[in-house]
Amino acid sequence: MTEKSNLSAIPSVDAVMAHLAERGLDAIQPRAIALRLVREILERERAAMLEGDECDGESAARARRRILADVEAEIIHSPARGLVPVINATGIVVHTNLGRAPLSEEAVAAVAEVARGYSNLEYDLLRGARGKRDYLVTDALCELTGAEDALVVNNNAAAVLLVLNTLAQGREVIVSRGELIEIGGSFRLPDVFERSGSRMVEVGTTNRTHLSDFRDAIRSSTGALLSAHWSNYSISGFVERVSLRELAALGTHFGIPVIHDLGSGILAEPAKLGLAGEMTVRESVSAGATVSTFSGDKILGGPQAGIAVGTASAIARMRANPLMRALRPGKLTLAALAATLQSYLRGEAETAVPVLASILIPLDALARRAEGMADSLASSLGDVARVSVVDLEGLVGGGAAPERVIPSIGLEIEPRGDVSTGFVKSAMLRQSPAVVARTHEDRIILDLRTVAESQDPAVIAALLSAFEEK
Ligand SMILES: *Cc1c(COP(=O)(O)O)cnc(C)c1O
Repeated sequence: MTEKSNLSAIPSVDAVMAHLAERGLDAIQPRAIALRLVREILERERAAMLEGDECDGESAARARRRILADVEAEIIHSPARGLVPVINATGIVVHTNLGRAPLSEEAVAAVAEVARGYSNLEYDLLRGARGKRDYLVTDALCELTGAEDALVVNNNAAAVLLVLNTLAQGREVIVSRGELIEIGGSFRLPDVFERSGSRMVEVGTTNRTHLSDFRDAIRSSTGALLSAHWSNYSISGFVERVSLRELAALGTHFGIPVIHDLGSGILAEPAKLGLAGEMTVRESVSAGATVSTFSGDKILGGPQAGIAVGTASAIARMRANPLMRALRPGKLTLAALAATLQSYLRGEAETAVPVLASILIPLDALARRAEGMADSLASSLGDVARVSVVDLEGLVGGGAAPERVIPSIGLEIEPRGDVSTGFVKSAMLRQSPAVVARTHEDRIILDLRTVAESQDPAVIAALLSAFEEK
């Protein structure tokens, strides 16, 4: 087969569009976007063939089939389609790549209701005058954390930036070397310091920092002391850290604010969630932090948001910072956050908030579902794969508590014959909805803790289609 005949196997744009219409795939993307994607693929194909890469030797008919299959996959799954739901079978409850916290029914309803029309976002219905969005969830946050005041911004990175800029611009912030963290998505504390206009002063060593290290570094130019959650890493062994309470006492003594970046905002009972020893927001406040910051969409289980709670004067200064205008959340975020906080206030969070509910699903409920699914898969897959119910270790995730595994149960699928695990895993990603699974050695692992029971049939269907594609 010559390169020339393969080049002629590349269908015309019109032919591809006609093929998509025939397959009923022409309405998935707006026509202009579909055309764009098709042209890109054909162009790429032409370039690859001219280079004569590994497709050399492929028959023209096969090349055409492959190109059409590529186009179909691209049309269905291109990011150009925007956000689409996926099924999370990874067992990582707060999965940043998969959108972190699923919202409660109440939060979803609140968003839909507010999204559809006008709202009191910045209008005080009591006084019939201009209001402020900053106050919409303040009472709930103060009630839940014991803080004097609270405000909401776009995410926790923004909350950290705002608090550093407000309390320590042009001044020094003392932080333990062991807490200079980088979390995913390039949030590096030292970089945030720089952008906030504060100067970072590292004290102690990676594994040991003493209170005296902080005390010795305090100068007239010190703007704040900072403690950050270790987030997605941990160290053990010969370790010493300064407790928040000690740090707060030192801050009070010298009249220097203490900032606590909690990472995950735990409002529930940590021990009940298997997170014994993790600090709640209320504990951070009562230990004496001047301002505590945390995410809305990690263990709290709400929308993407950054929340700062703290003393009335510190929060008032943050609110007055011009940066607040650039970092403020939108009405949909506030609607979802308010509804999520309501669930906590009503004592219903453990059942209503999906992140908590999924951490709390009992193992026997998972085992019952896994057995039912394994039976149905085994009879459909026959000799193609070995299916078994296995004990797994899930994760809370979201840089909340890296070593906290949640015992879980799921399915292990070991393809037999010529189907590879990698093929099945990517074929499952091409289903609608896509199913995101883990692999371990030559097996596909589906952790049911993060799969809603109502999604079980979709998981089975995706797995069967994935095997059929072969
Ligand atoms: C997750 C995390 C952040 C960033 O929070 P976002 O809401 O993702 O911006 C900052 N600090 C710590 C310790 C974290 O765990």
